[in-house]
Amino acid sequence: MTKYVFVTGGVVSGLGKGITASSLALLLKARGYKVFMQKFDPYFNVDPGTMNPIQHGEVFVTYDGSETDLDLGHYERFIDEELNYTSNITSGKIYSSVIEKERHGDYLGATVQLVPHITNEIKNKVYEAGLTSKADIVITEIGGTVGDIESQAFIETLRQIQYEKGMTETAFVHTTLIPYIIGSNELKTKPTQNSVKDLQNMGIRPNFLVCRTPFTTSDSLKEKLSLFTSIPKENIIDAVDAKNIYEIPLNMHKQNIDELILKQFNLPVNKINLKDWEDVIYRMDNLTKEVEIALVGKYVELHDAYLSVAEALRHAGYKYHTKINIKWINSEDLEKQNVKLKEIFKNTKGIIVPGGFGSRGIEGMIKAINYARCNNIPFLGICLGMQLSVIEFARNVCNLEDANSTEFNALCKNPIIDLMSDQKTVINMGGTLRLGNYNCHLIKNTLAYNDYKTENIKERHRHRYEFNNKYKELLEEKGLVFSGINQESNLVEIIELPKHPHFIACQFHPEFKSRPTRCHPLFDSFIKASLENK
Ligand code: GLN
Repeated sequence: MTKYVFVTGGVVSGLGKGITASSLALLLKARGYKVFMQKFDPYFNVDPGTMNPIQHGEVFVTYDGSETDLDLGHYERFIDEELNYTSNITSGKIYSSVIEKERHGDYLGATVQLVPHITNEIKNKVYEAGLTSKADIVITEIGGTVGDIESQAFIETLRQIQYEKGMTETAFVHTTLIPYIIGSNELKTKPTQNSVKDLQNMGIRPNFLVCRTPFTTSDSLKEKLSLFTSIPKENIIDAVDAKNIYEIPLNMHKQNIDELILKQFNLPVNKINLKDWEDVIYRMDNLTKEVEIALVGKYVELHDAYLSVAEALRHAGYKYHTKINIKWINSEDLEKQNVKLKEIFKNTKGIIVPGGFGSRGIEGMIKAINYARCNNIPFLGICLGMQLSVIEFARNVCNLEDANSTEFNALCKNPIIDLMSDQKTVINMGGTLRLGNYNCHLIKNTLAYNDYKTENIKERHRHRYEFNNKYKELLEEKGLVFSGINQESNLVEIIELPKHPHFIACQFHPEFKSRPTRCHPLFDSFIKASLENK
């Protein structure tokens, strides 16, 4: 039977609740258990797909095409399991489903209420994650901070679950802050005491405390916290600020939290295997080289908008003992007249243009792509980055000066990138892109094939526009190679330029499948080429 761990947060947001949840999951998996993860987000968007990346960070896409919160990216990178539609539940999703059922007459005349209808819907989502994943342990993170009005329905549901299932089936982990007061030079427990009280007032008794703190806490501080919160002292663990998030599972393991949770569940405490993780941490701590990679995009003021891309670059760096220095370049800045690209890319060894939507900053990205192509700088284009690489090539090599995407100019004469026919009638913005895994067939003797070393791959997508096959022959004649094709719908998935030292771009998002312990083949060869670019 599946057991459930719930991770809540108190005092302030941004404590690293997602990392705590992922770390627990990693440790339990390393003890031989099948784990699955889930996040509740209290906002009313049905999913984060329509949210502005500058406010909300990237949208993480799962293999089944769910557009999810970026924390799910951390989950996948930590536990190396593919998550799915049951993994990210928002208030928007819960309410719209309840209202749909009400309209359908499913409630048989009952007055539809927060308790039990909304809470039952949430509860079903928890149990559905357990049933469909067949996991031994499901770890659910509750977004927001305890006490927020918005998350109350979720907290109330957890209270019911704790009552229904009891201590051996559920474990509640509350993450809080122990601030340090300069002057009196003390770590303070009061905010944590109050936050636990808030939870208890809502009927939940947390079993573990994970305390974010700048320094290790003393025994006496833990005793005091234990006295005020009724949580055993050994169940109170420190989350001392770490220089690298990937160290956190090891820090938590040293304090036995995985063992204590398993004991609470009456599950055997199998021997732990953290070898791969320890190896990668060793690599991270022993980087001997550095390389500057320019990331040219329109959302660069919030680095989280490119979280998985940045992570994927770093993962490839770990393989080559290399620290990746990302130079964040706002593509709009490249559009200014008299901009000195040579100056900007002076130390750059590789250029990456990631995904994006809308026309702002497009011409700047095209300039960067042109610079990479003409100056033999290793280049990786992702999604929008692929579309713009093809436009750049059409304009500057094939003399189609007005080549464009109909996303930016609906009336352009040479729509190199155009809407797929099944997208032409779509009205709603949410959930209507080409999403999730699609097959891609790789052509032998290409860079793409050499990277993947196999003919058939599956990668995750999130886009509405496609390469327009009408232009294929012309571009091929001029030297562009179409090295990856989705054969089911004859859509272009990967392009490359064999005459260039390393120029490759893909319609999908490889960054979502990169792991710290196993970097993605396209990022691997891109970083390798960047290191060879002297
Ligand atoms: N805006 C482009 C499209 O919708 C590219 C999307 C992306 O980069 N994720 O096709």
